[in-house]
Amino acid sequence: MMKISILSIFPEMFTPLKESIIGRAIEKNLIKIDIVNPRDFSTNKHKKVDDYSFGGGPGMVMMPQPIFDAIDSLGDEKGKIFYMSPRGKVLNEEKVREIAALDKATFLCGHYEGIDQRIIEHYDMEEISIGDYVLTGGELAAMVVIDSACRLIPGVLAGESSADEESIYSGLLEFPQYTQPRDFRDEKVPEVLLSGNHKLIELWRFEQSLLITKRERPDLFEKYVETHKNLGKEKNKVMEKVLKMM
Ligand code: SAM
Repeated sequence: MMKISILSIFPEMFTPLKESIIGRAIEKNLIKIDIVNPRDFSTNKHKKVDDYSFGGGPGMVMMPQPIFDAIDSLGDEKGKIFYMSPRGKVLNEEKVREIAALDKATFLCGHYEGIDQRIIEHYDMEEISIGDYVLTGGELAAMVVIDSACRLIPGVLAGESSADEESIYSGLLEFPQYTQPRDFRDEKVPEVLLSGNHKLIELWRFEQSLLITKRERPDLFEKYVETHKNLGKEKNKVMEKVLKMM
């Protein structure tokens, strides 16, 4: 079981984690999520958690005391602490896998102008960004990290797709998917998918994945070509065809 602690002054924002696949994983005891509100630990009589920035500038900074005490209340449960921050390295497949392999982890969500630097240094936190843009708070970022890591925990995706076959993890972006009906508003499902010929379907999907990856993510495509020199006779042919296109 992975023990996840979240430090947030807006705990209600995590309601979506109780839904769907992550919600089921919680019920199955594959993960346990506790949310701790630093405001509950504020020694200030108005339960204040932020104050002006020393040196001036707009906006407020989250103070050390409520966050230190909230973290200390976790004791040995805290594990590695990640601070959601646009200054961190941008989340990728490798980092998601690394987090999924931990047995405990804590995610700290900032607000306003961010948090007092002493918090980051004292607890040797790792800063993680979910992209080159700025959010109003760390909650959505923490949910992105937690969701992407939890679905890699064995048993969480039981009965559903294996993560290794999906976009990014396989090295390519995923092929197009279709479901019922076969004909919808005159838009038809590609014939090959209805053929029952598994070999043909596999090659068609492979070709589609290559084409989509080449178009949308040439960086991934180049890496895939470099690291997959021999895919077997039939897939090699598909690869040659795609390399000649466009
Ligand atoms: N003043 C900070 C800066 O320039 O780096 C930005 C603070 S932001 C308005 C408030 C909080 O949102 C941050 O403390 C962080 O927890 C979260 N946040 C904002 N953008 C993020 C991103 N791209 N990835 C992860 N967390 C982010």
